[in-house]
Amino acid sequence: MCGIVGAIAERDIVPILIEGLRRLEYRGYDSAGIAVLNGTSHLHRVRTVGKVQRLQEAIDLNPTHGTLGVAHTRWATHGVPSERNAHPHISNDGLAIVHNGIIENHDELRAELRAAGYTFTSETDTEVIAHRIHHHQKRVGDLFKAVRATVAELEGAYALAVVSESDPERIILAREGCPVVIGVGEDAHYVASDVAALLPVTRRFMFLEEGDVAEVRRTDVRILDRDGSRVERLVRGARASSRQMQLKKAPTSTSCSKKFTNSHARSPILCKSVWQTAAY
Ligand code: GLU
Repeated sequence: MCGIVGAIAERDIVPILIEGLRRLEYRGYDSAGIAVLNGTSHLHRVRTVGKVQRLQEAIDLNPTHGTLGVAHTRWATHGVPSERNAHPHISNDGLAIVHNGIIENHDELRAELRAAGYTFTSETDTEVIAHRIHHHQKRVGDLFKAVRATVAELEGAYALAVVSESDPERIILAREGCPVVIGVGEDAHYVASDVAALLPVTRRFMFLEEGDVAEVRRTDVRILDRDGSRVERLVRGARASSRQMQLKKAPTSTSCSKKFTNSHARSPILCKSVWQTAAY
């Protein structure tokens, strides 16, 4: 299956992203990748096929550091498992996205983007989202608005996290049909498909609801619901008992698979478990 991790902090977040991916390994994956920004520097992306350890080795060979970034483990649904199809996907060099799920209307959206001059470097449905956000960003001049305009066009299931060189102080997050949580840290925020990914850095979590789009900055979070109204999502705590975290399975467990209607080359049983933490 699949996993998303992201972080924005004052310190180097690369080790946090890699450890987060390791903690999502139980979900299964075929490739992994990371994209980070360090202040005003260019977006730096590393992708590898196989285990997270291979991604770590690639980073060790070509050290990268950053204070803002996203990372992904992929379970291919559109396009073979390969480095070129691994996430993050990038549009116009500066905008990176990680995505869990399946976009059903990707063919139609890709055709429109090709007509608008976009070139595709992968076979994935996800790259369509990246270019679509870039396309809207040129029009509306704002990453958050561009993500909202894009998700309004998507049919399918997604949890996605977006960063951009042109907007290096926030991660934009959106959810429909796949789980995603925001971890609240000291002068930092984190995002992930599952709380387990973030337990080394925080025990306080906000759970996005279906249709939410969030702007995650280092010191604050702004969330709009499906209708565009500002909403607050309760910060819940994970309870610790000895060394084990007491995690309660969410009663309304959300699965990416519930929205998948088409048949695909690989099993659509993605993101099968979402765990919510018991409130303090
Ligand atoms: N559909 C996307 C892909 O094939 C995302 C798969 C996933 O959730 O890992 O790249």
